[in-house]
Amino acid sequence: MAESAVIEIQGLVKSFKGHLGLGRKVAVSGLDLSVGRGEIFGLLGPNGAGKTTTLKAMIGLLAPDAGSVRLFGRPPSDVTARARIGFLPENPYFYDYLTAAEFLDFYGRLHGFDRGERKRRVESTLRKVGLGTGPKQALRKFSKGMVQRLGLAQAILHDPDLVILDEPMSGLDPIGRREVRDLILSLRDGGKTVFFSSHILQDAELICDRVGIVVEGKLRHLGVLDQMIRSAPRWFEVAVRGEVPAPWNREVASASGEKVMVKVPDVEDLGRLLAAVSDSGAE
Ligand code: ATP
Repeated sequence: MAESAVIEIQGLVKSFKGHLGLGRKVAVSGLDLSVGRGEIFGLLGPNGAGKTTTLKAMIGLLAPDAGSVRLFGRPPSDVTARARIGFLPENPYFYDYLTAAEFLDFYGRLHGFDRGERKRRVESTLRKVGLGTGPKQALRKFSKGMVQRLGLAQAILHDPDLVILDEPMSGLDPIGRREVRDLILSLRDGGKTVFFSSHILQDAELICDRVGIVVEGKLRHLGVLDQMIRSAPRWFEVAVRGEVPAPWNREVASASGEKVMVKVPDVEDLGRLLAAVSDSGAE
């Protein structure tokens, strides 16, 4: 029998008590979403949009006010569904006095792996996340990027079918971000489903099959990011070095150093501006 969607969210609503207990702040407001097997899905949105709240409700860390979540067709509290999920929280925090290998070995015990299996998994997972053979210092001496990598390692140690990552590239340098993107791609190549949140458009653009854009708790756009960007440009900005030709000199959006940003509304105007810039000797 074909498996139903890996993630099925319907009408999810979650609110919190407001400041000083006054009123309620709606963090997620009627979110519907379905993610299939083998997809890389990015939940994008600005700070405070409701991404973390959605992720926490998805895995059963928060009880929704309304709506439902199904993972592999089961509620998030279901043990068989949980066993198939790996989760990286937004700000992972681990036991200060363990080494990376000790910490992962502890997680391996929670998953019920025997000693040999734990050793094998810990070694291969440390390599996968770019921690080599495992730094020997205690976790309290780890940099933010190392903690993030270890968080990823605990999320994938048990080879889950669904990996849910809250801001997985946060705190990483450009090489680290690329390594995490490659890791996510390799998970998908292995048939896994990856759901991650981010506010960095580029990370999502490079690897996501589909994205959802959430603003103030509502899903505003859903689809392939590339097509969204292509289908609905609201304007173009051109950086001009040198004198901006008329009539675009009236459309200057901002200036930085020698460069002036000119805003044009559509692709025809963009073509005319580029031709005029080139004719005038500006860059
Ligand atoms: P960020 O990118 O900054 O992590 P986010 O999109 O993950 O943002 P959430 O953390 O889900 O956003 O927060 C959504 C809204 O809900 C915010 O206004 C936040 O202040 C509020 N919120 C989240 N958790 C709580 C809580 N435990 N109590 C009260 N308000 C909360």
